[in-house]
Amino acid sequence: MLINKELLEEIKQWRKLIHSQPELGFNELKTSAFIIQKLESFGIDVHKGLGGTGVVGTLKNGEGPTIGLRADIDALPIEEKNNIEHKSTHANCMHACGHDGHTSIMLGVAKYLSENKNFSGTVHFIFQPAEEVLGGAKKMIDDGLFEKFPMDEVYGLHNWPGLTLGEIAVNNGPMMASFDTFEITLTGKGTHAAMPHLGADPIAAGAALITNIQSIISRRISPLKPGVISVTQMNSGDTTNVIPDHAILKGTVRSFDMDVRQSMQDMLTEMVTTLPPLYGVTGKIDYHIRYPVTTNNHDAYQAIKDAAVRALGADKVNTAVEPSMASEDFSFMSQKVKGAYFWLGVDGQAPSKPLHNARYDFNDNAIEVGVKVWVSLVESQLST
Ligand SMILES: [Zn+2]
Ligand SMILES: [Zn+2]
Repeated sequence: MLINKELLEEIKQWRKLIHSQPELGFNELKTSAFIIQKLESFGIDVHKGLGGTGVVGTLKNGEGPTIGLRADIDALPIEEKNNIEHKSTHANCMHACGHDGHTSIMLGVAKYLSENKNFSGTVHFIFQPAEEVLGGAKKMIDDGLFEKFPMDEVYGLHNWPGLTLGEIAVNNGPMMASFDTFEITLTGKGTHAAMPHLGADPIAAGAALITNIQSIISRRISPLKPGVISVTQMNSGDTTNVIPDHAILKGTVRSFDMDVRQSMQDMLTEMVTTLPPLYGVTGKIDYHIRYPVTTNNHDAYQAIKDAAVRALGADKVNTAVEPSMASEDFSFMSQKVKGAYFWLGVDGQAPSKPLHNARYDFNDNAIEVGVKVWVSLVESQLST
């Protein structure tokens, strides 16, 4: 298929506009309004309000299967450091994860397919809010995404620094890890720092806990099954001569395997309740199950692979990429409906800045590749 230059140019303009007015999860009001206005101008049925700022555009052309294509639309609380014309105009908010690229690519696909109906069936364009941490995908599902818009398959993409421009990557299996968070409260007994024996020191207990938590990964989980436990915050105390009453530790747990995930939760909980008492301190853990593993269904993986080979050539399709320990709430969708998720290369001659970096800017040269893969996928899954 040929994507004409005017459309590609238009998509780049949308991308820059969206980049300049980024909005945080569930507050994507302007972004959502822009998406609605564009979809309506293509003659696509628009449904608002799923997951608050979420939008679903439906394009039906005759009888056939129904597929969903997801783009995430939210930005991050980062102050942009790029010196570019389309720099964020919102303080401490920027599209540092490339969702501006995902959104404009999807709008381009919607426009293309509304003008070139070489398919038979229905496409739902799912514009999802709040991918970053807040689980907007789950909110759309809870608001009835799959009941109001029943679909046979669902697909998602993410741009991927480290992957060469012009290529995509899709695995027959896991792409992104599960994601949980925890908050540990250690309660001791405050005292004069010079007389520690009169109190119970939550900082000493916390330090021991942080060190011992890593033994869960190194000694108790199979070395053949990856897992990460990271303590990312430790807050306690106010001054140099007081042992405080409390210490709070926070962190995250990642894995690719449901059993490993459960074991890590159980072992962490066991350690938090049994180790601090050796210091006269009590430990309590609040464990939050967040995003599931993003793992590709075999048939849906095959569909993306075949569509991408047709659109780009076999040498541009990587099917054995190392999965990432980062996570993605698209997993909630692909848990409910047969689905798969792929990465879009953005490394040109100069490598892309990392995701979530204050100097990241989506590589517009990846737009054509993204549009081609989506269109190819729709035309093959809904073939006439
Ligand atoms: Zn992100
Ligand atoms: Zn992202």
